[in-house]
Amino acid sequence: MLLSRRRFVHLAGGLASALTTMPLAAGTLRSMEPASELTADLPIRLDSNENPYGPSPRVLDAMRNALNMANRYPWREYAGLTQHIAAMHNVQPDGVLLGCGSNEILRVAALARLGPGKKFVQASPTYETAERYAKLAGAEVISVPLDHRFAHDLDNMLAHIDAGTPLVYICNPNNPTGSLTARDALEGFIAKLPATTTVLIDEAYHHYAVQSPGYSSFLDHPIGDERIIVARTFSKVYGLAGMRLGYAIAAPRLIAQLRPHITPVNVNEAVLRSALVALQDAENVQECVKKNEIARQEFFSQAAARGLKPINSCTNFVMMNVRRPTKQVVEYFRTRNVWIGRDFPPLETYIRVSLGKPEEMKEFWRVYDSQAQKS
Ligand code: PLP
Repeated sequence: MLLSRRRFVHLAGGLASALTTMPLAAGTLRSMEPASELTADLPIRLDSNENPYGPSPRVLDAMRNALNMANRYPWREYAGLTQHIAAMHNVQPDGVLLGCGSNEILRVAALARLGPGKKFVQASPTYETAERYAKLAGAEVISVPLDHRFAHDLDNMLAHIDAGTPLVYICNPNNPTGSLTARDALEGFIAKLPATTTVLIDEAYHHYAVQSPGYSSFLDHPIGDERIIVARTFSKVYGLAGMRLGYAIAAPRLIAQLRPHITPVNVNEAVLRSALVALQDAENVQECVKKNEIARQEFFSQAAARGLKPINSCTNFVMMNVRRPTKQVVEYFRTRNVWIGRDFPPLETYIRVSLGKPEEMKEFWRVYDSQAQKS
């Protein structure tokens, strides 16, 4: 059913005020979940690379229980989760920093490492938070186009890096393209960096890439290089984007540089408790990865049936050239209640589509076909 924007705003406003006045009794959170985004008449959200299935029931229970502690600062849970993450990655707790989403990690890395007269090197297009804060810190931003396979052009990046480059950002797999840069190429690149250059490796989509040839996480298979910061998030496979939690793993010396820039008490009790359960719920992670894999294969077959060739994706989203101005296509989808990713210059005719539930993807292709027929 199509929904006018005005009606959507009205409904969303009504939902928001209902949520704020609802008593928080056991089971309330579950009743807040729309049974299906289609039946609830909410937009189909294929724009932010979230996990459409949300957190597992066990994680939701932990979240609910945390509400009883709403009057307390979450010191104990902060330390507990830090220790758990440290043990999981085989590092000491002083090598872990929790962030209000991994966005906060990217922010503090840029602010701690950069300043006027310093250079920040990244790919283009890539995820933009680090760049935003690099600019705020007064650094010069150098964006090096991805290569013809949409991998980082590491030789070209290297050519721009010198002793005045304290930070390089590598998003792997890369957002918005979903593409990979091979691990051996990254290792060769890191080996050639100046001793003073820190590499911020963003592994937000790690779980979706684990099986991809050429991919290997710098956390699961560390190289013992003290210039590396790895960022991870709970917003993707763990389904906790709305709760805000990410973390960095790095040498304690580097973490100590980042820590002063973090907002004090930056994460809440509910996400700390639910993240701890989410990390122990390997079965749910596997299931979400599997569903995503099925959705991705289906997306590629649907695309092929329409003569489209998406960029090979190792993530929970796909980017493809639709040979029309992105802004126009995105707007067309919006007016039909389907949200897809915005434009990512210089890829002005590509759209980025997050993989949703089967019924959501069906609706995506229905709208796609309706706009294709219009030309
Ligand atoms: N890094 C990448 C590559 C992302 O795509 C995103 C979100 O889409 C983030 C970081 C931010 O994640 P968080 O929700 O943890 O702040």
